[in-house]
Amino acid sequence: MYLFKRKTDLKKHLDLVRKNNKSIGFVPTMGALHQGHLSLIQSAKKDTDVVVCSIFVNPTQFNDPKDFEKYPITVDEDIKKLNTVSTDILFLPAVDEMYPEGLTAKHQHYDFGDLENVLEGEFRPGHFQGVGIIVHKLLDIVQPDQLFMGQKDLQQCLIIKKLLHIMQSDTRLVVCPTMREADGLAMSSRNTRLSPEARKKAPAIYQALKHIRDQFGNGLLFMEGAHEAFDSLKKQGFEPEYVDILLVENSNIKKLDHPPAENDTVVAAIAAWLDGVRLIDNIIIQGNL
Ligand code: AMP
Repeated sequence: MYLFKRKTDLKKHLDLVRKNNKSIGFVPTMGALHQGHLSLIQSAKKDTDVVVCSIFVNPTQFNDPKDFEKYPITVDEDIKKLNTVSTDILFLPAVDEMYPEGLTAKHQHYDFGDLENVLEGEFRPGHFQGVGIIVHKLLDIVQPDQLFMGQKDLQQCLIIKKLLHIMQSDTRLVVCPTMREADGLAMSSRNTRLSPEARKKAPAIYQALKHIRDQFGNGLLFMEGAHEAFDSLKKQGFEPEYVDILLVENSNIKKLDHPPAENDTVVAAIAAWLDGVRLIDNIIIQGNL
């Protein structure tokens, strides 16, 4: 695996890759890698010739400075894991390399429409602007044929779809399924910050999503499962931020306020705090993304 810390070196290398008519797959991450990240790399390996993974904990997307400070950093282990799935290139830039203009400089503002103001956008103001800034910079450097991201961050996938449109980019976005632990908990770098007791409780989020799916299709009571799931999580010691049933339409997400049509795409999504850690997850209730 090649390791690049400078964007000019990576760009030069990728120019040669393109000259040799090889396709490029890209998996951006913030490190503390787990099987969820590795599954994206495995999908990229199947679909493209040269796979680039980036590890960069992006300061501009953290609305909570404590979350940024506590974000796990495990570069040595990450490199070992990347080698087990034959990653071709790791891009590991420092903050100055990605933000030579400084973190407080005025950055481009992206018009993501209403998508930016619901769910994660509502509870993490500014988060998706930060995601847009860094993914735009990374895409300009890597210029991949295909970009691989996880359904676990469904709203982020839709934001990036919009970003690609704004950038008039030809890069194809591939959304990969959520990898879970044996007990159903969605894999996440933040799971390592849970205490052993909290870790035991955490799969309740996935149970709640499945409960919503099971209760759905109940005519006018279609939101009932979400209310029950919210109450149940509260009783178990979670602090839920949202437990929602949503309509996904043309790269947008809307809260469902009427029973959906048969061919609508409907997802259930949850964000909840447990033990000082914010966990998110979602499942498809009907249709396809
Ligand atoms: P992160 O390092 O958390 O920014 O995630 C980097 C990429 O990995 C994003 O596209 C995530 O959606 C994806 N990802 C994170 N967790 C999972 C998971 N459990 N299964 C599949 N993809 C995931």
